[in-house]
Amino acid sequence: MQPDPAASAQETPALPAGRPAAEILTELKALRTADAPTRGGRTFAYVYDPGREGLDELATEAYAAYATVNGLDPTVFPSVARLENDLVGAAAALLGGSPQTQGTFTSGGTESILLAVKTARDHARSTRGVTDPQLVLPSTAHAAFHKAAAYLGLEPVVVPVDPVTYKANPTAMAAAITPRTALVVASAPSYAHGVIDPVARIAEAAAEHEVLCHVDACIGGWLLPYLRKAGRTVEPFDLSLPGVTSLSVDLHKYGYADKGASVVLYRDAELRRHQYFAHAGWPGYPVVNPTVQGTKSAGLLAQAWAVLQHIGEDGYTTLAARVAEASDHLLEGLRATPDLHILGEPEAGLVAFTVLTSATPDRPSGTPDLSLLLHLADEMRVRGWYLQPQLSFDGLPPNLHLTLTPATVDRVDALLTDLPEALTSARSLPPTTADPALTDLAATLDPDTLTPEDVAGILAFAGLGEGPDGSGEPGGLPERMAPVLFLLDTLPVRLKERLLTEFVGSVFQRRTP
Ligand SMILES: *Cc1c(COP(=O)(O)O)cnc(C)c1O
Repeated sequence: MQPDPAASAQETPALPAGRPAAEILTELKALRTADAPTRGGRTFAYVYDPGREGLDELATEAYAAYATVNGLDPTVFPSVARLENDLVGAAAALLGGSPQTQGTFTSGGTESILLAVKTARDHARSTRGVTDPQLVLPSTAHAAFHKAAAYLGLEPVVVPVDPVTYKANPTAMAAAITPRTALVVASAPSYAHGVIDPVARIAEAAAEHEVLCHVDACIGGWLLPYLRKAGRTVEPFDLSLPGVTSLSVDLHKYGYADKGASVVLYRDAELRRHQYFAHAGWPGYPVVNPTVQGTKSAGLLAQAWAVLQHIGEDGYTTLAARVAEASDHLLEGLRATPDLHILGEPEAGLVAFTVLTSATPDRPSGTPDLSLLLHLADEMRVRGWYLQPQLSFDGLPPNLHLTLTPATVDRVDALLTDLPEALTSARSLPPTTADPALTDLAATLDPDTLTPEDVAGILAFAGLGEGPDGSGEPGGLPERMAPVLFLLDTLPVRLKERLLTEFVGSVFQRRTP
């Protein structure tokens, strides 16, 4: 037999010859030590800790029981349909569904939103002949809607929110509806500020124009109804409102399931059918894909089902009360801290606050101080807390964002002790400034035609990427994020997006041995 030239050309093998299981698991656990903790209530973004013993173990075992099952074909694996129908049924019952309501289990909020937008686009085309569809959004709508518009060829029509309440303006939303509108969006609540849009009025306007209306309850859907059960006042926001035609709710947020679990609901099966993709025009098996994925593990579905069954109505009500308690306590403490200003009136576990310049006789209320805010985030990180910086946008101030969970309750006092201390340290640091030369340069750059060298230069300037002398790891993260985020805040949106793309590309840079 001739030696295979392709095989001999490959000098470095793709993988080790094989390694013992115990060694691999040890390495995986060791890798985690550099990550933010996902349990314990000090990481105020990305993770949802119910603080309940045994829940992680249940989710893991349920996943394992279904890890090898392919969710692609419920006729071969009927238990997949049973679990999904249970979950969708629970979501419909919780969120104002009718007997006609149907839905789908998806991998997350982004996929639920992508599917709701695709459904609306295809519905508008088939029922109204809309070929050039628009998506009407409040400026606070989640970025996933812009992603959906970009993927699916819709034009986003962005409507500014009220600058005091941060809620969508229903009159302006109604005025933005045209014969090309495929979908109108409202959030319950918005991620950025945790406030609930006036869903009833927005849905009513959509219905008057015979246009579909989606409620993004990705973060609030599994919390708001239980806050109500725990005795809080929550205005109507769900499918019980006339005019609301679809809704997304993430189980991997306040449902406390592991990542990869969301539900999208539709008023009826006739609307949902536009979500499905079917293909019989090839020689392989007949394809029907309700979601973006083809083959998918049923493990995520099984763990979400198990977590929901285990926590149950009583558990979610108790957990929602704990989130509300943490929120009340935190808001009270933030209000009592000089120069912190809470944005809007947060209603559902999310809190965004900005940091103001110290009051002077001319400016008694101070103005948002980006440099101080970013230094504060860094100073809190040094003290073991992760608060999520959000940059300024369209007149809305930059802020620090906290996602509260039941595990927060026992941490609020410690947080409120560290916060003023961190603020004092932040004030003692030299203010971050943007290099005017870079800001001027940025104004002349076209994000689409930047060369890799231009981009590398700017990233190095920002303290990201390789240093000019070749020192520093490409994609290495700086100790303090303030200078980087400050620079980003000053740049035009498109340039920001291009730089972020290059930066994350550099994080996912394969290392050649
Ligand atoms: C989290 C979130 C999303 C996106 O969901 P992912 O699960 O991160 O894909 C969309 N909308 C809102 C309001 C969210 O909080």
